[in-house]
Amino acid sequence: MVKQKEKKLRVGVHSLTGCAGCQLSIYFIEDILLDLLDKIELIAAPMIKGANIDGPYDILFVEGSVSSQGDLENLKKWREEAKILVSLGACATHGCMQSMKHMMDEKQVEQTVYNKFPSEKNLQPITAVPLHNYIDVEFLIPGCPPSKDEIVQILKHVLQGRILRVYDKAVCHACSLKENYCLLDQGIECLGPLCNGGCQALCPSFNHPCTGCRGWLDDANIGSGKKLLEEKGFNIDMLVKRMTKYNALQFLEHEKKAKEK
Ligand code: SF4
Ligand code: SF4
Ligand code: SF4
Repeated sequence: MVKQKEKKLRVGVHSLTGCAGCQLSIYFIEDILLDLLDKIELIAAPMIKGANIDGPYDILFVEGSVSSQGDLENLKKWREEAKILVSLGACATHGCMQSMKHMMDEKQVEQTVYNKFPSEKNLQPITAVPLHNYIDVEFLIPGCPPSKDEIVQILKHVLQGRILRVYDKAVCHACSLKENYCLLDQGIECLGPLCNGGCQALCPSFNHPCTGCRGWLDDANIGSGKKLLEEKGFNIDMLVKRMTKYNALQFLEHEKKAKEK
């Protein structure tokens, strides 16, 4: 009997507005990608392939936030072409730095950035938001940049049908297990108690405060977190800047709810 050739998984990577660092996180797992080459076919990878093939994709990683008309059109097209769409990195999952314009006068920010607005409709800016504001996504990998381990986990999950465990603890959890000397106790404003972990407390382990690149915990009490940090003597303006670096939209949502109470 002739053995049927196993069909390879068609994998793609695409970008919206961002710095393209998330794409690099995928290419940096080249040793694992090479091992998987008999199982996957990288059909779209703008940074490393001259010719990129259009969908359909079995699994498509999309980095960047939706920040222009062109982004939105591309995203909707990719959604139709992808069986599994993965929102990759803080821009795609939380809006990241470009969504800080929600904290300011948006039109004024756009005017400052562009000076003269692009005439092409595709390039015209729209309000910067994560992918799931417009489409359904199957997986989210937060982080700036996202963790290579989580990218591999998702690929393996799809290839082997493994159950994917979602990490739902604060950054402090891993930090305490590592027995790090808490930065808050050293007078350094760390946002670890409010933020999604899963990064092995990367920053505090190198004495850098967590700035929340993996987003707020679903049940984070931002109000009391802010109050507690302020009571510890941290400057509130600086705290708000730090809290909105990646998560301006989540922060504003919280402020709105707090006002409604
Ligand atoms: S999440 Fe970070 S690394 Fe990824 S595109 Fe955005 S800014 Fe770049
Ligand atoms: S250093 Fe930061 S992440 Fe670590 S325990 Fe203290 S507050 Fe939490
Ligand atoms: S410690 Fe905080 S800022 Fe650093 S990688 Fe983890 S979530 Fe991101």
